[in-house]
Amino acid sequence: MAVPKRKQSNARTGSRRSHDFKKPVQTVACPNCNKMIQPHVVCPNCGQYMRREVIAKDDAK
Ligand SMILES: [Zn+2]
Repeated sequence: MAVPKRKQSNARTGSRRSHDFKKPVQTVACPNCNKMIQPHVVCPNCGQYMRREVIAKDDAK
């Protein structure tokens, strides 16, 4: 059975794992309702994008 000649260095293991961990989702405050939302996404709370552009009208209640 083929076997590695040398032990893999800690630096090599670490550089492989440098992409392993999930980053937290970036959020920005909605300019309309001030809720934290993802950037470049229609606000799920008030349905606005780029200020006054209402895309998804939400008639809650
Ligand atoms: Zn909003």
